[in-house]
Amino acid sequence: MKRSVLIVEDNSINRTMLAAILQKRYNVIQSTNGKEALQILKEQGHAISAVLLDINMPVMDGYQVLSLMKSDESLRSIPVLVATGEIDVDAEEKALSLGANDFFLKPYKPSIINLSLENTIALCESSALINEVTYDELTGLLSPAFFFKRAQAMLDQSEGDLVLACCVADHMELINELYGTSMESAVIKRIGEALSSIADNDTILGRIGHDRFAGIGPMINLDPDKLGELENEVNSDGLSLRIRLCHGRYLISRSMGSPIRVLCDRALLAADSIRGDRTCSLAVYDESFTKRLLREQFLVNSMASSIKEKQFQVYYQPKNDLKTGKVIGAEALVRWISPERGLISPLEFIPLFERNGLITQLDQYVWEQVCKDLREWKNKGIDIPHVSVNVSRIDVLNPAIGNVLNKLIGKYGLKHSDLHLEITESAYTYDSQTLVDVVQCLRSQGFILEMDDFGKGFSSLSMLSSLPINILKLDMDLVRSGNLNDRKSVVLGFVITLARELGIPVIAEGVETREQAETLCRMGCDFAQGYYYSRPLPRDAFEAYLKGTK
Ligand code: C2E
Ligand code: CA
Ligand code: CA
Repeated sequence: MKRSVLIVEDNSINRTMLAAILQKRYNVIQSTNGKEALQILKEQGHAISAVLLDINMPVMDGYQVLSLMKSDESLRSIPVLVATGEIDVDAEEKALSLGANDFFLKPYKPSIINLSLENTIALCESSALINEVTYDELTGLLSPAFFFKRAQAMLDQSEGDLVLACCVADHMELINELYGTSMESAVIKRIGEALSSIADNDTILGRIGHDRFAGIGPMINLDPDKLGELENEVNSDGLSLRIRLCHGRYLISRSMGSPIRVLCDRALLAADSIRGDRTCSLAVYDESFTKRLLREQFLVNSMASSIKEKQFQVYYQPKNDLKTGKVIGAEALVRWISPERGLISPLEFIPLFERNGLITQLDQYVWEQVCKDLREWKNKGIDIPHVSVNVSRIDVLNPAIGNVLNKLIGKYGLKHSDLHLEITESAYTYDSQTLVDVVQCLRSQGFILEMDDFGKGFSSLSMLSSLPINILKLDMDLVRSGNLNDRKSVVLGFVITLARELGIPVIAEGVETREQAETLCRMGCDFAQGYYYSRPLPRDAFEAYLKGTK
């Protein structure tokens, strides 16, 4: 296919001659003055490989055309060859300063014009290509290959210590799901801009993955306040979902000599370790990360087979009425009893499975076990008003969750109200409409919804009035303050009063002593769960406990 070139020349003889020289190799477009040329460029600029421009023209001279082209983002990269009448140093200097790429002399010499046009086009096209691979198109930061190349060079040449910083944007997949790819791109661009704005001149920055950025330099800021400001900047335009930036650092001392990619993997490991943890936005790599990673790999790799081998067991912890002490229900809590590793706490594997999505499978397994046990207890005439199961944030965002739960209810012949769904409070603070809709829908089907961990850090009291929940479950930390005479206990009393005003029953978790139970009862709290009544018990032990409390 022939490339297109544009001739801008008012003199018709010159123009026709030039066109005749070029049309063998090029598709030639002709224009008689600068204004018309700019119009053509605006419409077809993307398809024009070069402009041959006369300087002396009526209406708009060649200098003006040149300076307008170079100040226009979309036309800047089209090469321009300027025609001069004789050797005129001043004219050449002026044209060069305005961004001309080359000159050609009148009268025209076909072979010279063809050669210089060919060279100019080739040069511009290859530099555009280099630009494309050097820089990330969306953010203008270095592309992965070039970041690693330049960072390695900095590492090799540096005399002093360096900091390698990685930044991972959490929740990008949700942004895509909820707002589409153009919003996702806008957010990534904004993160790039925010990172550039805080990097000093000695820092090299790159976008090294879809939602991953890296920087290396002698003086990268480690101040958590600065990182908080950075995150606020990224979130400034009021997306309902907060983008979290997780920062991982690797401190490089001169003697180390590891390749940059290895160091970068480690900084990323540190950043990934705090995904989903809203209390922390910066992690600095040390040796413990590798050990942890190996253990996590073991947990992830053996999860599916462990379900089959029934290594996951459901324990039950009773919920009691604070006034009468009677059992009003129970919470199902999963335990992993591994033949190789012993008892593994859910605090270790649940957050991990939430990060990689495996939680869906595990939760559905637990729900089914609970339904099975409930059926069996009903058959045996053992009365347990309800069992609550934990529902992770990822489960709620799955639109099929209602179907899954309804199927289980049907399969085991249960009522919706036999199953309470505990959704952790932090899930609501994402405040995505999808989540509120799904919760509303589950509630309208007859499930009872408990807001778990209320008071753990970021609760908003206004959520209580606007969210479709049935029961409020107070977080352990808040409950513990019940016996102290401090501000937290004022908050505790206030939350209980407010929930009562709104007609929402309150259950306190982590109640360990009689004093705590009595204080809570006095404050107007309805129910309690905790070691004071019972630890979580294996299925059979719990059955015995139920019989014993009769
Ligand atoms: P959670 O839902 O807030 O569960 C309460 C945790 O407090 C349980 O820890 C329970 O054993 C513990 N606990 C109960 N009473 C007391 C007490 O008096 N004192 C103290 N110190 N602790 C008490 P556990 O079983 O280790 O579970 C930890 C977390 O793991 C749970 O917190 C829940 O978020 C998650 N989890 C447990 N099982 C499941 C599950 O099947 N699915 C999902 N998605 N998450 C689960
Ligand atoms: Ca819970
Ligand atoms: Ca809880």
